[in-house]
Amino acid sequence: MQRRIISLFLICLVTDSLCNADGLTDTSTSRHVKLRSVDIKEVRWTEGFWNDRFDWCRKIVIPNMQRMLEDPKVSHAYDNFLIAAGRKDGRHRGPKWHDGDFYKWLEAVAFVYAVTQDEELDTLMDRIIEVIGKSQREDGYIHTPVIIAQRQHLLRNGEFNNRLDFETYNMGHLMTCACVHYRATGKTDLLDIAKKAADFIYRSYKDSPNTLANNAICPSHYMGIIEMYRTCRDPRYLELAKGLIDIRDLVKDGSDHNQDRIPFRQQTQAVGHAVRANYLYAGVADVYAETGDTSLIRALEAIWNDVAYRKMYITGATGALYDGASPDGSRSHSSIQLVHQAYGRPYQLPNITAYNESCAIAGLIFWNWRMLSVTGKARYADLLELAYYNGLLSTISLDGKKFFYTNPLGRVDELPFELRWSRRREPYINCFCCPPNTVRTIAEIAAYAYSISNEGLWINLYGSNELKTHLAEGSPLRLKQQTDYPWDGMINIILEDTPKKEFSVFLRIPGWAKNASIRINEEMVSKNLQSGQYYEVRRLWRNKDRIKLVLPMPARLMEAHPLVEETRNQTAICRGPIVYCLESTDLPDGVKVTDISIPFDTIFESSIDKALLGGIFVLEGKARINSAANWENMLYRELDRGKTREINLRLIPYYAWDNRGDSEMAVWMSLENSR
Ligand SMILES: [Zn+2]
Repeated sequence: MQRRIISLFLICLVTDSLCNADGLTDTSTSRHVKLRSVDIKEVRWTEGFWNDRFDWCRKIVIPNMQRMLEDPKVSHAYDNFLIAAGRKDGRHRGPKWHDGDFYKWLEAVAFVYAVTQDEELDTLMDRIIEVIGKSQREDGYIHTPVIIAQRQHLLRNGEFNNRLDFETYNMGHLMTCACVHYRATGKTDLLDIAKKAADFIYRSYKDSPNTLANNAICPSHYMGIIEMYRTCRDPRYLELAKGLIDIRDLVKDGSDHNQDRIPFRQQTQAVGHAVRANYLYAGVADVYAETGDTSLIRALEAIWNDVAYRKMYITGATGALYDGASPDGSRSHSSIQLVHQAYGRPYQLPNITAYNESCAIAGLIFWNWRMLSVTGKARYADLLELAYYNGLLSTISLDGKKFFYTNPLGRVDELPFELRWSRRREPYINCFCCPPNTVRTIAEIAAYAYSISNEGLWINLYGSNELKTHLAEGSPLRLKQQTDYPWDGMINIILEDTPKKEFSVFLRIPGWAKNASIRINEEMVSKNLQSGQYYEVRRLWRNKDRIKLVLPMPARLMEAHPLVEETRNQTAICRGPIVYCLESTDLPDGVKVTDISIPFDTIFESSIDKALLGGIFVLEGKARINSAANWENMLYRELDRGKTREINLRLIPYYAWDNRGDSEMAVWMSLENSR
């Protein structure tokens, strides 16, 4: 241990106070975490589900997104930087948060570089970072809409004039991106830009805390500034991050929309705009990790309970309502506050009109990762995994080139009103915050697969990969995972380089897994393991020791809390971590998804279909069609008892829907309940 600490210290010295611990969240010295991150270069997918998706991000999604972000006919994101840098004439175009979109994409590139060391990506990043640097003001301010306007003398007033300018949001994404870039490359050019930006925010915080508090819209900068603190060890950044939470209490006329109506520490419910909310909660968890302020974790745990048990979809999506209100914001009807893409009331979870912005799904992952780190509780890893396999993956088409902004859990052909966002994935979305957010998060999943504590190694996620890391006291550890997860629940873990002393391996037993068992070198260690916890195996491990974890994966018929009115007497089908859905493509002609009901005793069998939707496990089982489906000019009618026929129903993973042309879709289906 001593040797590692000394070497870290030396690295710190030679890199001018920069430390060289390289987790996606660098919690190596965070005093109030139970689990620390492993370095981003230490985990590598080797085959299977996530290896395929990493390659897909690298070879298809990221290059396709680059073409769009650099083509002014499609997106002005890169052009805005070129104009702000004085390299091109023109004006700012696109949303105010377009800089942030670009930084998120750049972060995905940096992470892929960390794993692949692909020199082309390094050259690409160098070219872009130079332009970003030139577009920054000398005082550190960087936000292309204002800088372009100032350059062209179109703007008299300076920064932070309009809270909907998203300045700190953009700078927050810059900081997170810069930390990943530094860890991936060892280069400090982007980090220096981010330091100047963080210093600018620090001075603004000192000079005018009220202004900064009012500009905390969608606060990606809470996460960003804490990561800058972890990277640069500048105590001002920790002071700033703590202060940014406290100054929220200064906001006059705050709103539930922006989670600043009441002081954060008094909050117990998830309210308002779900992306802003999840970013706030993630940032506060980061501050707790460094400070141990128990008033913060108390609020976070209460809010998490509200989300997980009352306000989250079965796919891990949040932010149910296109347009909601905050009925608790005021007792007066005349001053009810409108809330856009809102966490609604408890159990208010519509399916066809669900908003569920893709960024909120990514935000839920960031928040749950940080909750896992500070508590070591499996329920946070369960939610992270749920959101990954279902909510997050479904936001991008299988060809990697089309994107959902909103993520409903149902679609019917004829909806008697128009929704603001397309009900199909689109190649480009005018509000392009989500696509780069989801691709960076998918590319980065390896960083969440393992954690380290003083006791040993924690395995959070399953998939074929290789890990080459160090335990907390500094001894090296190598292991391999071999598995067809998420399709198969058998996971083989082979230890390849182990310390000569006891340590623990903690295996996550997901909340859905019944009768899980563990064998070591074919000898049964434990069976019927309790689900929803980490199971600790402590021993003196030897090289080539083999852990076999079996998580049985029968299809499960799920039901929702009875107060979720939208899904009363309905069922959704899950298998392992995957939520399934029905697409009308798989139904006989003319049959609608709303015509289908599932008998209570149906057993769904799984089988692989390698040719379908990139290779998936489908579920098949008996269902019934209620054929009298003509509801023209009827709102209510007498129950039709007789006309049903049986069919064999095929379900596909929810993440793979909307890839076979126009179709209806349902996650929740009527249940013929004979209990
Ligand atoms: Zn978004």
